[in-house]
This record gives sequence, structure tokens and C-alpha cells, in this order.
Amino acid sequence: MESFWLCEDCLQAVVYDDFSALSLYYSEAEVEQRIAHMRIELQALLPLSADFDPHTGAGIQAFSTHPCEVCHSPLHGARHRFTRL
Ligand SMILES: [Zn+2]
Repeated sequence: MESFWLCEDCLQAVVYDDFSALSLYYSEAEVEQRIAHMRIELQALLPLSADFDPHTGAGIQAFSTHPCEVCHSPLHGARHRFTRL
């Protein structure tokens, strides 16, 4: 099975179908563009299954400098592991 490390934005999008966090960082036009981009990228990877455990920390990198493997965001931050079903 293939694993992917997702940024916080993609995590929210996959788990909750919630893109609202994006609006904190981007202008409205940028948000729409980024959501459209993320939906396309995610569609290509679905179905994804969460493969991390908040209790043990397995599958979670608190601070990664690698780009997100879905939206390719270069922003550093937390990454969560997902597995392609
Ligand atoms: Zn991402």
C-alpha cells in the first residue's frame, strides 16, 4: 500500500471535507484556486484512509520540512500519514 504525508489543510479536506482553514491564510480568489487544486489532487488519490494515531503519535510528524504530498504545499508544519486503499 502506498502512503502519503498530508498537510493540515489536506487533512481537514479529507477527513471533514472542510476547506475553511484555508481562508485564514489566503485571499478569496487564492482560496478558491487552492481548493480547486486540492480537490483535483485528492480525487486522484482517493480513497485515502487515515493512518495515524493521535494517542501514540504514530504516523504523525509534528513539524516537517517536506512538501505536502497532495497539494505540494511547501509550507512547513505538521504532516499526517494516510494510506491509499
Ligand atoms: Zn496539502
